[in-house]
This record gives sequence, structure tokens and C-alpha cells, in this order.
Amino acid sequence: PLPARPAVDQFRNTARRAGDRPAVYYFDRVLTFGELDRLSNALAAGLRDLGVEPGHRVALFLQNVPQFWIALLAAWKAGAIAVPLNPMFKEEELAYHLNDSGSTVLVSLESLYDGVARGVLGRTEVRHVITTSELDFLTPPTGAPGAAGSGSGGGVPAVLAGSSRRRFGETWDLVEICRRLEGAADPGAEPRPEDVALLTYTSGTTGSPKGAMNTHGNVAFNAEVYRTWMGLGPGDVVVGAAPLFHITGLIGHLAAAGLAGVPVILGYRFDPGTMLELIERWRGTFMVAAITAYIALMNHPDFGRRDVSSLRKAYSGGAPIPAAVVERFEAATGTYIHNIYGLTETTSPSHAVPLGRRAPVDQESGALSVGAPVPSTVVKVVDLETGRDLPPGEVGELVTRGPMVVAGYWQKPEETAHAIRDGWLHTGDVGRMDAQGWFYVIDRKKDMIIASGFKVWPREVEDVLYRHPAVREAAVVGVPDPYRGETVKAVVSLKPEFEGRVTPEELIAFCRERMAAYKYPRQVEIVPELPKTLTGKILRRVLRERGREG
Ligand code: ATP
Repeated sequence: PLPARPAVDQFRNTARRAGDRPAVYYFDRVLTFGELDRLSNALAAGLRDLGVEPGHRVALFLQNVPQFWIALLAAWKAGAIAVPLNPMFKEEELAYHLNDSGSTVLVSLESLYDGVARGVLGRTEVRHVITTSELDFLTPPTGAPGAAGSGSGGGVPAVLAGSSRRRFGETWDLVEICRRLEGAADPGAEPRPEDVALLTYTSGTTGSPKGAMNTHGNVAFNAEVYRTWMGLGPGDVVVGAAPLFHITGLIGHLAAAGLAGVPVILGYRFDPGTMLELIERWRGTFMVAAITAYIALMNHPDFGRRDVSSLRKAYSGGAPIPAAVVERFEAATGTYIHNIYGLTETTSPSHAVPLGRRAPVDQESGALSVGAPVPSTVVKVVDLETGRDLPPGEVGELVTRGPMVVAGYWQKPEETAHAIRDGWLHTGDVGRMDAQGWFYVIDRKKDMIIASGFKVWPREVEDVLYRHPAVREAAVVGVPDPYRGETVKAVVSLKPEFEGRVTPEELIAFCRERMAAYKYPRQVEIVPELPKTLTGKILRRVLRERGREG
């Protein structure tokens, strides 16, 4: 069922009925829903004063700090579209995203403004910059809400050591705006479900980044999914381990917690040691994050020393999750990691293993199921060439329709028409559904290799390589071959202790023993490091291009 209210109304409702409840735990500091509401009212009024009108774009260039939520709510209350940007962007990337979105206001951490944004703003449409320090909201307020904790030292957490509080003449200060406009009324924008709430940019594994238009209806629907399907509810404390600029953080941390009226733990950025400490301190119960975050927690020396027994509901999505990691985490904590699957274009999960259920394992590929479609969502598997519907068991492209599918890509009508046809989102992911309705994701369509006329899915070959003790990371691509059309090539990095001790020939032989003749890699290249996106996904595209040139 479609939620009746946009996410910003879900939040307003929570602030009204539970204003004194904690909304954010940021290191030592607690912000309540009431404080968040008042601060975002003031900032929304400030945005209006700066000329922001409904539909304008407000870019957020922030780490996982409380100001992210304040600015997001302020943008929505002013009727604007929020454009969350990756705080790891360098100048060119930032300029591209500001220009593509046509953002006129930038809310930035001072350190990011100083280091990155300042130099590029002249080339963009940004007219006003609102800066804020990572140290704001760190110490309890002295008088005014959100008074800055000035200077460093003393209680500054290790992850923020070295931060300084600096001001620049040409910018506005977020805390100052909130103080001056304290008590301002919510400008009261009432977005319709079809109005755009967010431009979330794809990370660019497929080409230049595109701004997915997540509507207010999309956001509200998926916040409900967290409540109804993934069991987020009273008594929960959300562990903010995903980056807030990514759809997982936006929905799974902010929108969902705002709807459920439960707090979220923020820790500036994901640092495993800090996160373990904060989970122990604030008794975190609900975690959704990339599987790499779980691996990082388990590999940290404090894992086992910190009490994380409060963590009872765990989810992971965004990339394939190895069964071995799920088993290891469960053995250590007693908590099972539920697989979820979705794209930026589905505003976070379209599939999930519901709380309390366990994902079945695909007999053929060994992959864990990504779950079943969330309510009100229809997913078909269609033939890769003809597009015709396939019966259960057969492998094809996953095509999704439901209330979470985005309205399209910002100012990219061609790409939109290609991705969304008659309301069906073509995910570009290849998978199958079993007879019980469980889905399995096998690989990405564009990564398919056709060697001697046979289809080869890189992930299957990579899974075999990962079983070799020396392999740290592996990526498999197709490269042109005069006889086979394409041939399978693996690019591998080694664990430090094996460097110089394993040859490509040994790895080829290892694979040949374990898979069909058309599948095993004929070429293996050993490199120190694989190319990755800023979010840590391996860029097979770059390897393919290198393979063509070579
Ligand atoms: P781009 O769209 O530019 O390629 P991206 O890959 O970072 O960028 P996201 O929307 O963050 O885009 O990721 C979505 C993709 O992640 C899906 O299409 C799918 O390939 C993969 N994915 C997500 N969840 C899972 C999962 N549970 N198991 C396997 N793969 C997953």
C-alpha cells in the first residue's frame, strides 16, 4: 500500500508526537526529534531567505554528521530537492555533480569547502554556501541550540582529531543561521508523492554518473518497507554504518528512523573501531550496511572486546554477500545478516530476506538469495535477447515495477526511456527466481562474456578464484580474441604474504581443475591493486577497456 504522507510529513508527525525522544546519537551528544525539527525549521527559513524556491536544488557535501539530517529536512521543508554528494569527491567530480544538478545552494563541511569546493564554485551555478564544522553538535548546547563546541582537544574523538574550526568570510554559517532564525516557523512545503525529493547519483560503474530522481512517494514507501518488512520499530537504535549520501543511508538511516521515531547513531564517517565503541555505548540494535562494513568490524582488534550483543537485526545489500561472511558474523554475534537487494533507481531495497527468515542458497552458483520482492512490488525475469517473460528457474534480466522505482534520471530523457519502459525498470542485473519465489542475482548483464558462443558470468569465475588462498581480490572480464570472439581474463591482487610467490599459470591451472573448459580464464594478470569506485566497487569497465587496448 502506498503511504499517504511524504517522508517530510512522516518526520513532522514524529516530531509532534515524540519531540523529546532521541533522534541522533553523535559521539557523546544526543539530539532529540524536537531539536532536529526546530533546527531544520530555522535552516529552512534561512534557505527561503537565500532565495530557495520549491524545486530548486540544494547540494549536501557532508559526512555522517547531524547537520546532514538538519539540512535534508530543511531542504524538504522549503520544497527543494536535496542533492547528496559523496564527501570523497575531488574537485572535478564535485564540479560535475553541482553542474549536472544545477544546484544553487551548497551545504558543506568547512573542511570540504576549504579543501575541495572553494576552488570550483566559480564554475557552477552555486550562489550561496552554508558551511558547518564537524565539531558542531559535539558538545552539549550552552544556551542556544546546537552551540558549537569550539576548538579541538579534550573530548574530541580520535576520528575527528585534527579538525579545526575555521570561518570564511564568503560563506554562511549553519549554526549561526539556526541561532538567528531560532523559533522560525516551518515554511510548510507539502510535496506531492510524485515530486522529486532527492537526486541520488549512480556511482558511475556504467558510464558518467546520472542523477536518479527519487520522489517523495519513493522515499516514504521505502521507509515503510524498513518498518513493515525489515522489522524496524520501537526500541530499536539504528547503527549509521552506511554513508548518508548513499540511498542506503538516506532511507535506511534517516527516513526510516524518522518514520519509526527511533534514534540513529552517527560517527562522522565509517571507522570500524569508532563504530564498535558507539554500538556498545548506545546499544545499537539495527544495522544495514555494505558487507565490507561487517567485514571491517570483524577484522578490527576491538571486535570481541566491545559488547555488541545489542545488535539483533542485521541487513546487507549493494553487492553480493559471501555466505562465509554471514556465517562468521553469526558465529561471533549470534546475529544473522539478512540479504537485501536494490539499486539507487529503486530507492534502496526492492528485495529483502524478511526479518527472521534465512536466505536459501542457489544450488548451481552457490549464491545466497537476495530475498523476495517487498510488498506492492512486481519483479519479472525476462530473456536477455528477446525480452520475453521467463518461467521460474530460468536466467534472465530482472525487471522491476513498484512504488519505489524512480521517476527517471535528471535531465536525461534518453537514458530514462532506456531504463524505464512502461513503468518497468530494467535493472541490468541477471538472475533467476526459484519455484518458491526466492530471487538470486547472478551478475550484471553488461559484464556477461561470450566465449566461443558460451555465456560466462564473471562472478562465477571470481568465486572460484576467491577460493585460492593467495587471492585477495579478483575481477574477471572478457577481452577480444580472434578465435573465441572473447576470452576470459582474470585480474587479481594477492594477499601480501603471497606476493611474488604465485604465478598466473598456477592460478589458471587452479581454475581449469574446477570449471568447464569455456569458462576458466585463459589469461591472468597480477596487479598490486584493482581499480575501484569511490564507494569501493571494483571497476570491471576499466579492466575491460585496458584489455581492449592491450
Ligand atoms: P552504477 O549504477 O553507476 O553502476 P552502482 O553499482 O554503485 O553504480 P548502486 O545503485 O549503488 O549502483 O548499486 C546497485 C547494484 O548493486 C545492483 O544493480 C546490483 O548489481 C548490486 N547489488 C545490490 N544489492 C545486491 C545484492 N544483495 N546482491 C548482489 N548484488 C547486489
